[in-house]
Amino acid sequence: MIEQARQALKRVYGYDTFRKGQEGIISGILQGRDTLAILPTGGGKSICYQIPSMLLPGTSLVISPLISLMKDQVDALRRVGVSAAFLNSSLGAAEYRDVMRNAMMGEYKLLYVAPERLDAPMFQSLSEQLSIPLIAIDEAHCVSQWGHDFRPSYRQLSGWIARMKDRPLVAAFTATATNEVAADISNMLKLRDPSVFVTGFARPNLSLSVVTGVDKKKFLESFAAGRKEQSGIIYAATRKEVENVYEQLARRGIQAGKYHGGLSDAERAETQEKFRFDDIRVMVATNAFGMGIDKPNVRYVLHWQMTGDIESYYQEAGRAGRDGEESECILLFEPADMQVQRFLIEQGTGDTERKSIQLSKLHTMMNYSRTQRCLQQFIVDYFGETGVEACGKCSSCLDKSEPVNRTEEAKMALSCVGRMKGRFGVTMAAKVLKGSRDKRLLEFGLDRLSTYGLMRHLPEKEIADWLYWLVSEGYLKLSEGQYPVVSLTANALPVLEGRESIMQRVRATVRQSASNDNAAVSPLFEALKQWRKEKAAVEGVPPFMLFFDATLREIANVQPQTADQLLTVKGIGSAKAEKYGDGLLSIIHSFGGEGKATGSFTAAPKETSASSKRAASDEQPSHLTTLALFQAGQEPDEIAKDRGLSRVTVEGHIIRCADEGEEVDWSRIIPAEYEQLIVQAVGELGNEKLRPIKDALPEEVTYFAIHGVMSKYGFKA
Ligand code: ADP
Repeated sequence: MIEQARQALKRVYGYDTFRKGQEGIISGILQGRDTLAILPTGGGKSICYQIPSMLLPGTSLVISPLISLMKDQVDALRRVGVSAAFLNSSLGAAEYRDVMRNAMMGEYKLLYVAPERLDAPMFQSLSEQLSIPLIAIDEAHCVSQWGHDFRPSYRQLSGWIARMKDRPLVAAFTATATNEVAADISNMLKLRDPSVFVTGFARPNLSLSVVTGVDKKKFLESFAAGRKEQSGIIYAATRKEVENVYEQLARRGIQAGKYHGGLSDAERAETQEKFRFDDIRVMVATNAFGMGIDKPNVRYVLHWQMTGDIESYYQEAGRAGRDGEESECILLFEPADMQVQRFLIEQGTGDTERKSIQLSKLHTMMNYSRTQRCLQQFIVDYFGETGVEACGKCSSCLDKSEPVNRTEEAKMALSCVGRMKGRFGVTMAAKVLKGSRDKRLLEFGLDRLSTYGLMRHLPEKEIADWLYWLVSEGYLKLSEGQYPVVSLTANALPVLEGRESIMQRVRATVRQSASNDNAAVSPLFEALKQWRKEKAAVEGVPPFMLFFDATLREIANVQPQTADQLLTVKGIGSAKAEKYGDGLLSIIHSFGGEGKATGSFTAAPKETSASSKRAASDEQPSHLTTLALFQAGQEPDEIAKDRGLSRVTVEGHIIRCADEGEEVDWSRIIPAEYEQLIVQAVGELGNEKLRPIKDALPEEVTYFAIHGVMSKYGFKA
């Protein structure tokens, strides 16, 4: 049966080989084994239950808490010809009834259900009327108290499953599970002698960085400005911070969306859609954003503050690079972040036991933020995986900075805190060191301490950060409670006595990921993207639903000439080739692709070149037909409509004619008032990437006009 699975992988998804773990998981399920699979985000969990569901008789249930992910997966499955549906709270009553009716008639191979939707009677009626070979449980860590995202509704599942007449196979999937959580999942879901797969937590395409000791605002500005063409998420801890960051970006002319609990559902849904559709590139959000975001081409995730635990951090950061391309995860860390997180834990609803688990997780997070170890190693270690090599590209691995000796400043701070006798918080200690004239400080007579004003040359905030750094290093400690006071630990003594020195590394390096997005972009790739955007808009789905960037890039590089050749491109299965093949091929041809096929197509069937030659000799080539219509006065839009081509193709035809020396009326391509501006922009920014040129010009200047100028002035590469 695994052979059939392999065929499905190629036919349905257009992929040649299974990723690590997939084959074992799928063949285990097909052999009737319960399964617990821990694969990193982007590791390809969905295929592990989708392919068995297609091959097994009956309707498989997929339990998932992520509403928008369900919709995307169902859309994607339908797109490749697999019947699927979902039941969750986004459906109206009538839609819900329709899905139920169809489900009962056995219409679907996969039925996605939100756990909150399931109650005992509903589950019973599904299990009585459907033949269910497999129940796949996504985000299975939600069943565990020890996980970071416990959901009581998951707890019901095992009871219901156990009561089913023919108990189906159960396969549980998650990306984040410590050993403890993994064991809990298996127990809670009552898996029967499951095969367990842990393919590793490392995400080799992510470059992790911790950045500390920088002006965060300046950092953000230059960071975002350098990545205008990339999709990114910026996470901030509170609504207020989200608003601040959002405004800061807006002031710099960087268009972003914002997402937090204070906005209406409609506003949030709209922004999320814009982000998914690539209409806005940057999303500034609290952690409310993201459950269910499986946008594959997120190139960076920047955390404005530290999160409360490693699981949340890795889950949020892991939203970068699901498509496997190089992506960046940056944590901006200030020692004071710990206070915010402590406050959130103490204000939270958990009981004492839960709170103390959270506090210990916070400590580990703190350690991550200042470790000098490879960050990828640190994380996988946390999840219990050993033997992973240093990644070579995180901020620790790249850190060449020499540690700075900070013993003198440490002594000043420690002796000041010592003298304040554990009665005040960090803020007051910082004020004393600063030599502030704060009213309360004077009332307490703290200006009479010998350490008063010892650090007056530094801003108060920097002094507070320094104190928090000493806390995080274990030289100072904070008491519990809403107004924690600061005091010395035993570790402070050797420092104060001059027996130990304190070294600090300041890291601020962020290597720009070697993402292909930054590489020179070919005009054909741009045109394919534009075509994808138009097509996706017509179909009302995000562009990635049609093809990933990597697929378009491969098409642009290889320039397939026939439908068969298209099928060899990664990410194109038969359904997509049939649906979009003509559109893709016509763009390739309009860019003069004939004969350029290389790589996997060197051994292309002979008919390919024969057929393109035929096109050239027997009939007028397509681009000349377009030109004739253009010269007869038709506008590109009309030509596109008449000829059943996309506008991008038509424009490509016209430019190609111009490149080949045909007469064209430039004034219809390049608006006279912008011509000089475009020439100037191309002169300044070079001819390799179109996007920066487009961004530098007024919005109404089209790619067509830019291509026009490049052709007219011979700027082409
Ligand atoms: P996860 O749920 O584990 O985060 P997904 O199931 O969403 O990951 O898969 C991530 C991406 O990897 C998807 O775009 C998927 O199509 C792709 N993918 C999965 N399996 C393969 C494979 N064998 N070859 C190539 N791409 C794959």
